[in-house]
Amino acid sequence: MARYTGADCRLCRREGVKLFLKGDRCYGDKCGIERRPYPPGQAGKKRPRDSEYRVQLREKQKAKRMYGLLEKQFRGYYDVANNQAGITGENLLRLLESRLDNVVYRLGFAKSRDEARQVVRHNHIHVNGSRVNIPSYRVRPGDTISVADKSKDLLVIKTSLISSEKVEVPGWLEVDIEKLSGKVLSLPERDQIDAPVREQLIVELYSK
Ligand code: SF4
Repeated sequence: MARYTGADCRLCRREGVKLFLKGDRCYGDKCGIERRPYPPGQAGKKRPRDSEYRVQLREKQKAKRMYGLLEKQFRGYYDVANNQAGITGENLLRLLESRLDNVVYRLGFAKSRDEARQVVRHNHIHVNGSRVNIPSYRVRPGDTISVADKSKDLLVIKTSLISSEKVEVPGWLEVDIEKLSGKVLSLPERDQIDAPVREQLIVELYSK
C-alpha cells in the first residue's frame, strides 16, 4: 500500500507539534521542529489564515500522521468510531491506540510507530502466544503481547528498550522488561492517551 516516504520531520513542522516519528532523535537537539519551528516550504514563515475548516483539517492530518495512516484507513476508523456507543472522538483515539503497532511502540519494543510496524510485519511479535504480523490488529483487554523467542536478541528491540526509558508506559498497559512481554489491562480512557489532538475537531470535519 502506498505510504508517505518523505521526511518525517516535515510532518511535525507542518502540524506545529512533535509527533515523535523518529525515535531517539525526537528527544535530542537534532529534532527538526526544535531547530526550525516553522512550517516547511518557501512560504513557511508566512502564517496561513486560520479558517474553521483549516483548523479541523490540520487536526485530522496531525492524528493521521501521528499513527502513520493513509486517509482511507483513517476514515475507516472514524466510521467504526461513529457507530460505537459513547463519544465518537474518544472512540476514534481508543481504536487508534488499540492497533498492535501502537501497542508495541507504547510498550517500548520499538522506537517509533513506523519501526513497530516493521517489527510486527517481520513476525517478531506474538499475541497470546500466537504470531500476529498484522500491524492494524486490534488488541483487547487481557491480551498478552510478547516478543517472539527467536527475536529477543534483535538489536532493534534492545535499542528500543533502552530508548523506552524516555517514554512512560501508559497505565492501561503493563510491561515486563525481563520477559519482553506486556499485557493490555484495559482499553485506554482519554486521559491515558498521550496524543496532542483535539479529536472533537476531527469529528466536526467528518460530520460536514
Ligand atoms: Fe518530529 Fe521527531 Fe523529527 Fe522532532 S525529530 S520533528 S519529533 S519526527
